[in-house]
Amino acid sequence: MQMSELDELYQELIMDHNRRPRNFRPIECPDREANGYNPFCGDTVTLYLKMDGADVADVAFQGSGCAISRASASMMTEAVKGKSGEEARQVFDAFHEMLTHPPDSEFEPDDALGDLEVLSGVSEFPTRIKCATLSWHALRSALDGGGETVKTE
Ligand code: ZN
Repeated sequence: MQMSELDELYQELIMDHNRRPRNFRPIECPDREANGYNPFCGDTVTLYLKMDGADVADVAFQGSGCAISRASASMMTEAVKGKSGEEARQVFDAFHEMLTHPPDSEFEPDDALGDLEVLSGVSEFPTRIKCATLSWHALRSALDGGGETVKTE
């Protein structure tokens, strides 16, 4: 990757989330747990969910990976904490579409994305999309019941 591309990607907010990832901790006795592994970059993530009925009462993650994977996981926890499982899935869908929509197609960012929009530039770097979406696939797996390892392809 070129330095100028990195400049575009590694914006202030992303760097901040990478340096001080939010909700970067285990949850004791989580209701759901899912692992993710991105062999292209070596990113790993373990996602923990504490549910309150249908709502995400707490969400946290651990693991190691590149700045994009860490920042995305950190921002994901902030975006879905306190939301219902259904709302969390909608944020997943909006985020996934933001990163994977065809380059020449129109994309209207969903309001639910909030700060996550700073990661939209990642869509131009196919290998980095896997880094950014890893924790999100783990989230969806956990919402579905968890217990398995999600692998990027
Ligand atoms: Zn990565």
